[in-house]
Amino acid sequence: MTNIILLGPPGAGKGTQAKRLEEARGMVQLSTGDMLKEAIAKGTDLGKLVEGIMARGELVTDEIVIGLIEAKMREGAQGGFIFDGFPRTLKQADALGDLLSRMGQGLDAVIEMQVDDAALVARVTGRFTCGNCGAVYHDVTHPTKVLGACDVCGSTDLKRRADDNEATLKTRLMEYYKKTSPLIGYYYAKEMLSSVDGLAEMDVVSADIAKVLDRT
Ligand code: AMP
Repeated sequence: MTNIILLGPPGAGKGTQAKRLEEARGMVQLSTGDMLKEAIAKGTDLGKLVEGIMARGELVTDEIVIGLIEAKMREGAQGGFIFDGFPRTLKQADALGDLLSRMGQGLDAVIEMQVDDAALVARVTGRFTCGNCGAVYHDVTHPTKVLGACDVCGSTDLKRRADDNEATLKTRLMEYYKKTSPLIGYYYAKEMLSSVDGLAEMDVVSADIAKVLDRT
């Protein structure tokens, strides 16, 4: 059982790599962003509470995401968890450490996906996903083979994230640098941090992540 965190700014490729790890290693992706988006889509009270905050690109409160993560972790995962987009603050990082130790588990690696800011803007503003199977595409670097249909499942339900526009991305980046990037130092000091080049080809990034996991 291996538990890891994928750390990096919006658009670093955390979600894509998490999905690959699910397939390759039977791990379970825990994306707080996806959980919150699901709450919005279902129109729950939580969804209504966070909708405006997310549309602006700001972070929701620590209590909300810690509660979501705790509930999902209690469902268990044979191959371990991939934390994607969580933790995003030092308080969340401490809470995750407490949760794992209460469950008799630990954290095996924190993988920082390094990308430069100019590349991020191009990456994020061009991306879209399949609403049916979650496959991720990009207008320029990874378009679908057939225009308007998913390569993997054929669905025509291709979507863009509401917060993948340039204005919201700037706020998301600012939140990242102010509140999340200190986690790089935090996990470095705990001797858990590894870094990979998030701008390399997708397969190269996957191979670099695999190397880190095989060392744990
Ligand atoms: P993501 O899909 O990870 O980019 O998350 C989308 C949005 O959900 C973020 O811009 C935040 O508004 C919110 N969010 C997701 N995860 C967290 C978290 N761990 N802490 C606070 N807000 C979060």
